Amino acid sequence: MTSIVLITGASRGIGAATALLAARQGWDVAVNYSNNEGAAREVVQAVQALGRRAIAVQADVANEAQVLAMFARVDAELGRISALVNNAGVVDRAQRLQDMDLARWRRMFDINVIGSFICAREAVRRMSTAEGGAGGSIVNVSSRAACLGAANQYVDYAAAKSAIDTMTLGLSHEVASQGIRVNAVRPGLIETEIHASGGQPDRIARLAPGVPMGRGGTADEVAEAICWLMSDKSSYSTGAIIDVSGGR
Ligand code: NAD
Repeated sequence: MTSIVLITGASRGIGAATALLAARQGWDVAVNYSNNEGAAREVVQAVQALGRRAIAVQADVANEAQVLAMFARVDAELGRISALVNNAGVVDRAQRLQDMDLARWRRMFDINVIGSFICAREAVRRMSTAEGGAGGSIVNVSSRAACLGAANQYVDYAAAKSAIDTMTLGLSHEVASQGIRVNAVRPGLIETEIHASGGQPDRIARLAPGVPMGRGGTADEVAEAICWLMSDKSSYSTGAIIDVSGGR
């Protein structure tokens, strides 16, 4: 039976790297994007070139109606998923909490936390062996910021990722008896476009010397951990959170 994975925010960065590695490991892939359809289609073509099925599916993960429509499309066009990667996320430029406005704080939680919740709920409804599903695996993409607090930078982002860690643990216990594993990865400083779009294009160069391994990581290095957690190779792991952070 073919394994199907839905990856949110997969048009670039860690999500795109995960889509390609998953395809190499035999998965069919639903590539979610919010607004960059062209980039998502390129990822779809790259997956198809590896001999797997793929579709690009639009949804802002914080929009419940769009997420429900996305899952319905994946059901109809690819089939029932056996893995979900909650990867979509945003960060905003460095700022002290006392200077943040409510709109920024809400956006962080809408996309990073509420988006992950809606997608996880829809995945569990499809995977649960108690509801006729075949089980599955959910991987949430957190951040080392959840452990560091990110003072004077992104306290809102760190708090949102910390909520994802707690959701990972609680949900893993809830659904363990339904054939579903729930785990997370905590990337450290990874070379993707998130730093530029978050208003900090020089962040990697500035912070890499402080990483014990002395460098930023790559999206491919994070994808390895995600794909391991997605697959049956991690069959006895649930509620686990794996750091991919060069020791940071
Ligand atoms: P990225 O900006 O390249 O990727 C994020 C993706 O999420 C983009 O494709 C973006 O379009 C998508 N996205 C944003 N809002 C969305 C929404 N509302 N609905 C659907 N998709 C949406 O950055 P990345 O580094 O690949 O980030 C992937 C994940 O890794 C994020 O959750 C991020 O917080 C996390 N992370 C990254 C780093 C890092 O240093 N790069 C470190 C820790 C955690």
